[in-house]
Amino acid sequence: MSNDPAVARELSRLDPAVPFRATSQHLHFTWAKTFYSRPELYIQPQSIEEIQKAVTVARRCRRRLVTVGSGHSPSDLTCTSAWLINLDNFNRVLDVSQETGLVTVQAGIRLRDLSRELQKHGLSLPNLGSIDSQSIAGVIATGTHGSSSRHGLLSECIRGLSVTLANGQTVRCSATNNPELFRAALVSLGALGIVTEVTLQTVPAFRINWEQSLHPLSELLDRWEGDLWTSHEFVRAWWLPYMDRAIIWHASKTDLPVQPPPKSWYGGWLGFHVYHNLLALSNWFPRFLPWVEWFVFGMQYGFKPGAVVTKAVEPAREGLLMDCLYSQFVNEWAIPLEKGPEAITRLSAWIHGDEKTARIPFSPKGVWVHCPVEVRVSDTTLSSTPRPYLDPTSREGPTLYLNATLYRPYLRDPPCRERYYEAFEWLMRDLGGRPHWAKNFTTLASAQDLRDMYGDDMDQWLKVRREVDPDGLFVGEWHRRNLLLTSGDETESAELGDSHLSLGERQETVRKFGRRGAGDGLEWIGDRRWERASPVSLHKGTIITDSPSPPMTSTSEESFDLLAPGEASFFYYKDGLGVIYADSISTCALH
Ligand SMILES: Cc1cc2nc3c(=O)[nH]c(=O)nc-3n(C[C@H](O)[C@H](O)[C@H](O)COP(=O)(O)OP(=O)(O)OC[C@H]3O[C@@H](n4cnc5c(N)ncnc54)[C@H](O)[C@@H]3O)c2cc1C
Repeated sequence: MSNDPAVARELSRLDPAVPFRATSQHLHFTWAKTFYSRPELYIQPQSIEEIQKAVTVARRCRRRLVTVGSGHSPSDLTCTSAWLINLDNFNRVLDVSQETGLVTVQAGIRLRDLSRELQKHGLSLPNLGSIDSQSIAGVIATGTHGSSSRHGLLSECIRGLSVTLANGQTVRCSATNNPELFRAALVSLGALGIVTEVTLQTVPAFRINWEQSLHPLSELLDRWEGDLWTSHEFVRAWWLPYMDRAIIWHASKTDLPVQPPPKSWYGGWLGFHVYHNLLALSNWFPRFLPWVEWFVFGMQYGFKPGAVVTKAVEPAREGLLMDCLYSQFVNEWAIPLEKGPEAITRLSAWIHGDEKTARIPFSPKGVWVHCPVEVRVSDTTLSSTPRPYLDPTSREGPTLYLNATLYRPYLRDPPCRERYYEAFEWLMRDLGGRPHWAKNFTTLASAQDLRDMYGDDMDQWLKVRREVDPDGLFVGEWHRRNLLLTSGDETESAELGDSHLSLGERQETVRKFGRRGAGDGLEWIGDRRWERASPVSLHKGTIITDSPSPPMTSTSEESFDLLAPGEASFFYYKDGLGVIYADSISTCALH
């Protein structure tokens, strides 16, 4: 439990029958173990009332609240020194309609558990990305996608959401009910509130018949405007830059009986470890990488195009997935599909040292990169679901997702990262690209750049965000670094002084995580004034809340515009002389 007596005090004012399941000493880290952080409290609620209570206590105690799903976002989006809330224990399927395929779930459910439950009812998600370990809410929040020219973001099947807002109210939204909130919440980056329930449109369970093989890169580029992306419902490719080849994987729905993929002596444990160790060696001898690519992928897919064709028939919930191997940095951008051949040709030229063709103003000298580069497609223009304000895909047609993966063998960062990503991000921007929200874009995109990339849509998203969370309760350090937030979202220490926490959790430093076995992982250290454990009620400027408890109803169909100010409207605070003031919290200034 927190050192801060204010937390105990606020808890004592709320219904004791509603548990506050929080622990301290939690170590949070991302799947790739690139970032670690130690939140003051880690909260795992099991009911809507518990979620609402956590929001209320956080707000009254002036703590920021970051929501984490399965921690698979590669960036530090979920890192915090404040309070971290996780819905792993709020993960049930609430309703399944076999007739309509509409399914309602609690938002903490992982995709793999959802798929398993759906299978029991003969249903399936229409599309998946490379893995199914994520929570449904996490997938929605970052615009996760698969690879299909007949599908858009995974969230295109979402029909309605419930979101617990900063005032502790839980609000429903959909295309017709609170549509602005819905469009904002479809890619929310966790910054609007806590998504608690999700209603989605499923499809009858289906199997896919997939096939993959090695091809010359020229074939991929020649077929780009032909049938490369449309010949099958699901198509993806992995580009091997030094070999000038690509593995093409495609799949279609089928009624054929299940036929598992063939086992190869190299394709499992052995290949995994050989590649891992060769990558580790290449961190010391980077010029080794073209040979690693040739050997590893030659062993698996044949040294000549078409030499090995792998096929299988699997349930879609398994066949659409892939093994993502090791810890990695991923830098993935969405660009219009028609720019794909130019993107690949110029990046390939840069990797091969041909600066004239590349037209990228960073030197490729001494840079050796990892393979493969992931090449995927989505088309969000076909969807009837309202477009999320922060959807990075093209509005005019299909989108290419290009993902420059860099493995971190044994959690060690590769030496090429900075220059490769500088060059890659520069090229992506030159081609009108926008970064995947969850991934490791770093070198070139700033808050102003991201505002320019989204224009009015970003303004709309920020407006909705401000309306539902005027104090920035759900604004973490990642948001402050990457989004053009206004002063309303920044109400905090500068204004209120050091005498209480006031939502403070600015990242103060990032340092190498000291623990053995953590490799080059970074420890994200934020504002930890709460550790000083000063009894805040004795200081000038202490906030003493006296607002009502959260409503007992778990959801509301009313407009969030009306609800947003709700409970948080009036706070009472006492100055050093014991004088009590009342003010709206968003404009509150201490005397
Ligand atoms: C191995 C691997 C493979 C991947 N493959 C793909 C892929 O194929 N396609 C793709 O597009 N992406 C892919 N990703 C990225 C991944 O899908 C996203 O990062 C996704 O957001 C992770 O979901 P999560 O549950 O782990 O969310 P987290 O990473 O924990 O959180 C992501 C965001 O969601 C917010 N959030 C989580 N739960 C809630 C909630 N209940 N209410 C409000 N906000 C919430 C968080 O605050 C945060 O902003 C991959 C990542 C990894 C590590």
